[in-house]
Amino acid sequence: MIPFLDLRAINAAHREEIMAAITRVFDSGQYILGKEVEQFEAEFTRYCGVKHAIGSGNGLDALTLIIRAYKELDILHEGDEILVPANTYIATILAITENRLKPVLVEPDTSTYNIDVNRLEDIITVKTKAIMVVHLYGQVGYSQRMQKIANAHGLKIIEDCAQAHGAILQDKRTGSLGDAGGFSFYPGKNLGALGDGGAVTTNDPALAEIVRALRNYGSHKKYYNQYQGVNSRLDALQAAVLSVKLKYLDGENEKRRTVAEFYLQHITNAALVLPQPALHRESHVWHLFVVRTENRDHFQQYLQDREIQTVIHYPVAPHKQEAFSDWDTQIYPVSEALHASVISLPIYPTMTLEQANYIAAACNAYRL
Ligand SMILES: *Cc1c(COP(=O)(O)O)cnc(C)c1O
Repeated sequence: MIPFLDLRAINAAHREEIMAAITRVFDSGQYILGKEVEQFEAEFTRYCGVKHAIGSGNGLDALTLIIRAYKELDILHEGDEILVPANTYIATILAITENRLKPVLVEPDTSTYNIDVNRLEDIITVKTKAIMVVHLYGQVGYSQRMQKIANAHGLKIIEDCAQAHGAILQDKRTGSLGDAGGFSFYPGKNLGALGDGGAVTTNDPALAEIVRALRNYGSHKKYYNQYQGVNSRLDALQAAVLSVKLKYLDGENEKRRTVAEFYLQHITNAALVLPQPALHRESHVWHLFVVRTENRDHFQQYLQDREIQTVIHYPVAPHKQEAFSDWDTQIYPVSEALHASVISLPIYPTMTLEQANYIAAACNAYRL
C-alpha cells in the first residue's frame, strides 16, 4: 500500500536530531515556555521574515488569538464580518465564530481553489472588517489585488498559513504577506511537530504583545493578568522538535514540488482535472495534490484496489456541516461542486519517483 502520507518516514529521516532535542528538553527541567520555545520563535520569526512569531497550542488557537487580540485593540468587534473562502477547512471559520464575529463565505476560484478575488468587492459591506485568506492546499492565496481592495475598504488581512509554511510570493513568505498569520504544526502539515502546535506571525508589535499575553492566561507577568486569556502555549518539547524540522522545511517543500511536477507532467487522463501549476513555482508548497473527477468515489475505490491510499479534502462544505445548520439554506455552487469532486493523491517529501510513477500510471489507466 502506498500511504497517503508517511509520517513515520518523514520524521525517521531526522530521528537522531529529534531524539537529541527531546533528550535536551527532558534534561533541562523546563517544560513550559522558556528557552526552547523562545528559540523556535526566534528562528520562525527569521524564517518567515516577520518581526514577531508567538507559539500557540495549535493552529486553530493561533487564528482565534489573532482575532481576539484585534478585539482587545478595538480594531475588530463582535458582529463584524470577516470574508473567508467557502471551501476552507472548518478551523478557519471556527476562529471567527468563537470570537462572535460573522464569517461571510466567498466562493473559490476553481483554477487555484483559493478565495475568488473577483467576488470580494460585491460582498463587502460597512460591517466587513477583515479578509481571512487561506493558502489552501499549499498555494499562496494573497495577491496585490487583494491588498488594494483591503486598503480601499480599510480591511485587515489575516492569513491562514496552516497548509503553506514556506510558500513565497515576491520574496515574501506566507505569514508576512498580510497583517497577521496563523500557522499550525499539526503532525501532517508541511512543518509538523510530534503533536499539536501553532504560531502567530505579525509585524505589528501591539498585536504581538497581546497575543503573547492571551496565550498565557492574559498575563505578561506571572500572576498579574491584564486580559481574560486562555492557556494555549506551544509545548517546549514540540518547539525543540520544530527547531530541528524547520531546518529541513525548504528542502522538503522542494521534494514535494518534484513529486507535484512529476504528476503534472505524467498524468494525462482527460477524466482527471489536475491542479494548475502556480504562476511562480515557489508560491506553491504542495501540502496537497488535489485532482477533480466526476465519479470521485469510484476513482477512490479504483485507487484503493491498486494499493494507493487517498483522502478527500474535504467531503462536506462548511455551510453544509451539522455544526452550522442555520446556514443550510445558503448556496455556494462552486464550492459545492468542488466538495463533490476533489480527491487528494499521495504527496510527501519521502515519496519516491517510483511511487509517483506507479500512481501516475494507475491514474492514466483509469476509465470512468
Ligand atoms: C490544519 C488547519 C487548521 C488548524 O490547525 P490545528 O493545528 O489542527 O488546529 C486551520 N486551517 C487550515 C486551513 C488547516 O489546514
